[in-house]
Amino acid sequence: MYDSPTMKTNREQRFETRAIHAGQESDPQNGAIMTPVYFTSTFEQDAPAQPRGGYEYSRSGNPTRTALEGNIASLESAAWGLCFASGLAASHAIMGLLAPGDHVVAANDLYGGTYRLFTKVFERYGVRFTFVDASDVANVEKALEPDTKFLFLESPTNPLLSICDIEACSKAARSQGVTVVVDNTFATPFLQQPLELGADLVMHSMTKYLGGHSDVVGGVVCGRDEQLREKLAFLQNAAGGQLGPMDSFLFLRGTKTLALRMERHCENARTIARRLEEHPAVARVYYPGLASHPSHALAKRQMRDFGGMVSFELVGGVEAANTLASGTRVFTLAESLGGVESLIEVPASMTHASIPAAERAKAGLADGLVRLSVGIEHVEDLWEDLLQAIEAALPAHARA
Ligand SMILES: *Cc1c(COP(=O)(O)O)cnc(C)c1O
Repeated sequence: MYDSPTMKTNREQRFETRAIHAGQESDPQNGAIMTPVYFTSTFEQDAPAQPRGGYEYSRSGNPTRTALEGNIASLESAAWGLCFASGLAASHAIMGLLAPGDHVVAANDLYGGTYRLFTKVFERYGVRFTFVDASDVANVEKALEPDTKFLFLESPTNPLLSICDIEACSKAARSQGVTVVVDNTFATPFLQQPLELGADLVMHSMTKYLGGHSDVVGGVVCGRDEQLREKLAFLQNAAGGQLGPMDSFLFLRGTKTLALRMERHCENARTIARRLEEHPAVARVYYPGLASHPSHALAKRQMRDFGGMVSFELVGGVEAANTLASGTRVFTLAESLGGVESLIEVPASMTHASIPAAERAKAGLADGLVRLSVGIEHVEDLWEDLLQAIEAALPAHARA
């Protein structure tokens, strides 16, 4: 676990306490409680090659970013963290560890942008990918080759919220010398800690729950292995995709309330998923917290709670889905997720449009699937809003 430089945190403290203090200490000069935003590109040196405080140039390192990297590393039970300008920049750095001919096994319902990065960018560099349904560890085992370098997992997945057994998959991959990477964006370290389950690297789109307020874009990679840290820090500096100081400050502000926010996200999502499941206009609900979810027992074992994302299909298919998504008033029709405000979207035509229709169908992603990012508003306002929008999309008298 990350050894925080501050006296206020230690490794025995609980998540909620570390979320507020880890990586941060009062400003030694003036005692400012909040980490200053170091708006500087360069730092004075006492003599050539003797930087006064260890910093030389803000692409290589900036104190506000260092505080955030320490904070997230502590939350992920990692030894280190490296922050990037977006979640995809973080994934790009991870993939930059590979060479032509290397092979990657990845889950087949990854975030659309990750799939695009793999197939449109890294396939051109000669990296080979096999996409599998990772909810069955046997599929992962079968896909491993002598040249496989990475197993790239997401759980819960986006947007079908399927769960893979991170511990079993990690064990299978690591026994073959394969590095295990988990995109923990949907769960957050409050609900799930992939490194504790055997993964080597955990990454986030911090844009979502870690930021939590839909006002900043960023990504992070965390791990324990010092060699991996050195290679990734080299790439972070060499390619220059790192996070700026103002954005780092906004994420530090976000993580302080992560635990509180996640508790309410989970509570609201659970209520909405249960009620949707009983609604006659709803054909299917995807939420790992429902007993009807095929991996409910695994999710219960692997996660502290089940998260704030709920997907569902109406009986009326894609037309009803489009009407519903355009008819909500509290839920905003928008891409992204994880903010305090509730969002609604239709993945097949929005967040996942970059995945070919045939691939979407193979992964079971219906064109009429609706995805909710359930926020922390009052749950009854959210439910009333969904009810009126469902009624407008599929009037009770018109349901078959
Ligand atoms: C949004 C997202 C990403 C990409 O992150 P950006 O910050 O948008 O670059 C990656 N993985 C998941 C699961 C996401 O939701």
